[in-house]
Amino acid sequence: MTDALYKQMLENMYEGVYFVDAERTITFWNKGAERISGYQAKEILGKQCFDNILNHVNNEGCQLCLNGCPLQQTIDDGVMREAPVYLHHKDGYRVPVSIRTIPLFEGQEVIGAVEVFTDKSEQFDRLKDLQELRALALKDQLTELPNRRYLDNFLAERWREYESLEIPFGMIFMDIDHFKKVNDSYGHDIGDEVLKMVGKSTRAALRRGDLVGRWGGEEFIIIVSTGDEEELRIVAEKIRMLIEKSTLSYNGNDLSVTVSLGATLPFIEDDLAMMIRRADEKMYESKEAGRNRVTLAKEEAYPIG
Ligand code: GH3
Ligand code: MG
Ligand code: MG
Repeated sequence: MTDALYKQMLENMYEGVYFVDAERTITFWNKGAERISGYQAKEILGKQCFDNILNHVNNEGCQLCLNGCPLQQTIDDGVMREAPVYLHHKDGYRVPVSIRTIPLFEGQEVIGAVEVFTDKSEQFDRLKDLQELRALALKDQLTELPNRRYLDNFLAERWREYESLEIPFGMIFMDIDHFKKVNDSYGHDIGDEVLKMVGKSTRAALRRGDLVGRWGGEEFIIIVSTGDEEELRIVAEKIRMLIEKSTLSYNGNDLSVTVSLGATLPFIEDDLAMMIRRADEKMYESKEAGRNRVTLAKEEAYPIG
């Protein structure tokens, strides 16, 4: 490879790269260095790195350029170094960077050094991206409610709490009535708007500690913090009523839907799958009984003796 090609490669590296000669005069300053420090090559080339430009400080605030410059030490002893430092950005603030200083030899003699530096605040940004991705993976993109995966985890957690600490919870399985008709009559996009409306109205009926998520399609599961059947029935009824009273304007028409709900508390000898299945079965009983209603599972009195 020609020198020009090497230079071009270094020029375009994402990391900041600069060269100094044995007198610490800056002879090369790449695009990464411009991006991280805010200083353009033409402002920097020919300056000395202790000219109070970059003005690295370490964790304790020591001015490394004047005393203990890792580049100078590398030039002095020919040993590579790594250090976390804070460089001075052209706009005045401090940027956390990881630096690596590498000696440049000509034969046995050190004729200068290279400093490669990466912006650590960008690593924090990447961490934030990761957290956002995680949130994205647990959220239903249409309704912005917790998705199936989130619900599965949340339910498993609540079930463990119920088993170990006897903290009960109510579950409501909810399905939109004749939703296919909405899609067929008004189109899929309006169907989507209806799904969002149903999600929001459901949320309005809940208290802190309760949760609604999209189980799939036009089905939702609501987890209610209660161990009381009557309280659970009241919450389910409130959801039903609020959805029935919600309307979406479409071409001058008011569009409404109803929902069928099945609600249950954990029963003796249940496991989580049984509880979900029972909530679903009770929802179907609501459908069969004419839709737009709540059916509550009643645990039969345990036979005595
Ligand atoms: P029932 O009262 O018995 O529940 O009748 P239904 O029409 O609601 O039941 P069915 O299961 O036949 O239809 C559900 C429909 O929900 C079919 C499917 O196209 C629609 N659907 C599922 N997910 C979405 C979605 O994300 N957006 C829209 N617009 N429609 C959806
Ligand atoms: Mg369905
Ligand atoms: Mg349906």
